[in-house]
Order: sequence, then structure tokens, then C-alpha cells
Amino acid sequence: EDVGSQMDRVVTEEEWLQKWEKGNTGFHKEQGHPLLQKYLDVLLNGRSGLRIFFPLCGKAVEMKWLADMGHSVVGVEVSEQALKEFFAEHNLPYCEEPVPEISGAKKLQCTSRNISLYCCSIYDLSSSIAGKFDGFWDRGALVAVNPCDRQRYVSLMVTLMEKNSSYLLVTVLYDPNKHKGPPFYVPESELKSLFG
Ligand code: SAH
Repeated sequence: EDVGSQMDRVVTEEEWLQKWEKGNTGFHKEQGHPLLQKYLDVLLNGRSGLRIFFPLCGKAVEMKWLADMGHSVVGVEVSEQALKEFFAEHNLPYCEEPVPEISGAKKLQCTSRNISLYCCSIYDLSSSIAGKFDGFWDRGALVAVNPCDRQRYVSLMVTLMEKNSSYLLVTVLYDPNKHKGPPFYVPESELKSLFG
């Protein structure tokens, strides 16, 4: 396939914020993703009390699922509106804290569950701020990253991986000449070279 047509496309953070403001959030799945249910055992691998990371989390309901199972969930998202909608839609109380290491960033900390959501760009986060993770749920995340930033994004994810971590990644298959994205088309061959 010719994925060249998407390689130069850039969606700015401002454009993402506008999508949230205008309610153009067709990617949000109110019922959660069936593939997380299907591959939950692969993610958990019999372990309990994991630290699970949601890059580019939006208001993914799966964050509540996993927290309800006793795991500790960390997400990162540029849209504060998305994060506030997450807490409001699940009736979860939270408090706001600054993140001293990242100027302008906030951490929204749930006070009834183990859910910490950073409101900042993923590229501002590091393992010294957020720690390392046993599990990753990457849905609407790598495929939402601008194609020119994929390598940087994946390198960052690798630095957040604990030993023996599991990484669930959802991609979408379609003809990249017919849709400009996001979600972007990430061919399997590229996944292999990105994650090695
Ligand atoms: N993973 C979520 C959301 C997918 S849409 C889900 O499954 O529903 C991608 C999300 O990434 C959007 O909410 C957008 O606001 C956010 N986003 C885009 N660029 C980002 C960046 N650089 N850092 C953090 N979040 C970002």
C-alpha cells in the first residue's frame, strides 16, 4: 500500500482540543472496547495490583474497569475537558494537583479509586514523573500520534515499561488513500520495526 499520503499529516494539540469542545469524539466507546475484554488475560497474565498506563487516554471507560479490578491506572491526555468528563460520567470524585516537573501540567487524582490522570502532552511525561508500568492499553493512541512522531512516541513507551510488562495495541486496517486520518494506518511491518 501507499501510506505516503499520510506521512506528512499533522494534527495539532489545538485541533484535538477543538474536537473535544465541538463533541467530535466519535472515537470514544461508551461501552468500552471488546478487545480489552478478549485479551484481558494477556494483559494481566494472572497478576493483581498492576500499574497500567493509558497513553492518550481521552475518557476511555476501560480506565474505570481496570481500577475497579484493583489495578492502579495512570493516563495522559491533552484535553482537560476529556478528563473532567471521565470523572463526571462515572461519578468519581477527584482533586487537582500541579505537576512541578511540567510547567502548565495538572494531575487529576481520583479520591475513591487508584486513577491518576495527567493533563499534558505525552511528550512531556517521563518515567521519573509517572514511574514504570506493568501493562499498557494503547487504543486510539499510536494510531492518533502524528506519523512523524511515531518513533519518538514508541521510544518513550519503551522507557515506561517495567520488566515483564504487557502491551496491548489496537490498530485499524483501511486504505490510507481513502481517509486522511486520524486514526492513521500503521502497517504491521512498521509496528515490527518500531517496537523491534
Ligand atoms: N485512547 C482514547 C482516546 C483516543 S483519541 C480512547 O480509546 O477513546 C486520541 C486522544 O489523544 C484524544 O483525546 C486527544 O485529545 C489526545 N491527544 C492527542 N495528542 C496528544 C498528546 N500529544 N498528548 C496527550 N494526548 C494527546
